[in-house]
Amino acid sequence: MTQDQGGLRTQTDPSKTIIAIDGPAGAGKSTVARHLARHFGLLNLETGAMYRAFALKVLRSELALDEPAVLERIAAETSIRLEPGDDENRVLLDGEDVSGLIRNQLVTDAASRISVFPAIRARMVRLQQEMGAQGGVVMEGRDIGTVVFPHAGVKIFLDAAPEVRGQRRFDQLGARSTTPPEEVIRELHARDERDRNRADSPLKPAPDAVLLDSTNMTLDEAVAAAETIVEEKLGLAGLRF
Ligand code: C5P
Repeated sequence: MTQDQGGLRTQTDPSKTIIAIDGPAGAGKSTVARHLARHFGLLNLETGAMYRAFALKVLRSELALDEPAVLERIAAETSIRLEPGDDENRVLLDGEDVSGLIRNQLVTDAASRISVFPAIRARMVRLQQEMGAQGGVVMEGRDIGTVVFPHAGVKIFLDAAPEVRGQRRFDQLGARSTTPPEEVIRELHARDERDRNRADSPLKPAPDAVLLDSTNMTLDEAVAAAETIVEEKLGLAGLRF
């Protein structure tokens, strides 16, 4: 707990806590989550990679992306694990390392489409809860503070203006992408709309999340602001890591 207790301000051990980072695509979540994890010595878990891995499985099996009953059956027999990697998580789909196969446009679009189905979400949420149960994690996604860990010790909702997010995503793709910037921005907006408007677990800040708008910040500034939020929430302000 971080509350004052009898006048004494108590600290929360970061290795026991859960830090939830939610927000739309391109807001800087991955950069912020990665830095927070390194800074506080926590495990970084990118839940979007799990939806991507499942989407890859569906694409490979050439099944339709819009048949919930079939998808639910496949999800029930699918194992997806996240492990720490150098920069991004290592993603194991039924034991196979698919980390290098899930960042392309086809999988990105499919992940967005399959993530609207409640049965798929329920399966992913259960796996995420298992992975974070011991605490000591930064978990990044769209519904971490609202659904996966509603009692997380720190919740940050990271946002930025759509055009800034679109530009960041384009810059991030860099030489990897042959897609023109307008197309990247259009696709990002389409994903956002789907995330915000789905009936199950729509993208929105938890009532007790701290809102961090990075529109006019560099990513370094957003990282520093997030560190300050965590330190204040955990009662660690002024301590060195
Ligand atoms: O974060 P990332 O862009 O890798 O996520 C891929 C897709 O997975 C998103 O577009 C979103 O629709 C979905 N997602 C989700 N809930 C999460 C994480 C990701 O619905 N917690």
